[in-house]
Formats: sequence, structure tokens, C-alpha cells
Amino acid sequence: MTEKETKEKKAEYDRRYRKTHREALKKRDREYHIAHKEVLNTRRREYFRAHALKTTLNGREITVEGLQKRPRPNECEICGRTEPEIKILQYHHWDDGNLSMGIWVCYFCHMAVTCYEKGWTDRYLTRYLAKKSEIEKSEAKEHV
Ligand SMILES: [Zn+2]
Repeated sequence: MTEKETKEKKAEYDRRYRKTHREALKKRDREYHIAHKEVLNTRRREYFRAHALKTTLNGREITVEGLQKRPRPNECEICGRTEPEIKILQYHHWDDGNLSMGIWVCYFCHMAVTCYEKGWTDRYLTRYLAKKSEIEKSEAKEHV
């Protein structure tokens, strides 16, 4: 028997085995997943962190997979705060044509850089300062 024939025979045996033992294999997989839940969840989370990204495209939230992100540090790359002080590090990218170009940031820094990238910073700050001044003036009047 050639090596190729041996492989084909083994593949055929495996196919038949999977067909005739479907329930037992399902049960084994289920038990394995229950027994190794934490390890499997951690591994999935780590894989998602390194290779996938949730982002918005045309107003819809999408998940892009198969990425090579920059290595994830332990702190926000802008403000330097660490978990658990910051809930979670997010991956901000600025080039849809090259999603591996990005930076690991906390929620607040992510909002700040997103506003900057969209050119909203000045508009938001101007509105915020105007609103703050308006509230302070009206508070001052009430307490005269
Ligand atoms: Zn930050």
C-alpha cells in the first residue's frame, strides 16, 4: 500500500467513525468545553485582542478579523493609565486601508483621538466652553 493509499484509507475510516459516533463525539466536545471553559475563553479573548477589531462602517458596527495589530501593551499609549483603573484598552486605527496601523488607548483617550481625527475637537470644545459659561452665569444670577 502506498503512502497516499494509507492516508486515504485512514481518512475514510475517520469519516465513517465520525458518522457512526456523532453523539459520543458531541458529548465529548461539550464536556471538554465545560471542563476547559476558562482557558478557552481566555484564549479566544487574547486571539480577538490580537487579530480582530470592532469598528463602525457606514453607521453599522462590524467586526474585522485576521488583523495583525501592534502588540498590546499593559497601559494606554497616550495617558499611561493601566487596568483595572481603565476598564479596557481599545485599539484605535486611522487608516482603513491598513488596519494594523493603530494605537492602544483607554476609553477617554479613544474619544479624544476620534474627535481629533474627525476634526470635531474645536467644535466640541467651543460648544462645551460656551455651555459651561452659560450655566455658570445662570447659577451666579440665581445666587445673587
Ligand atoms: Zn488614556
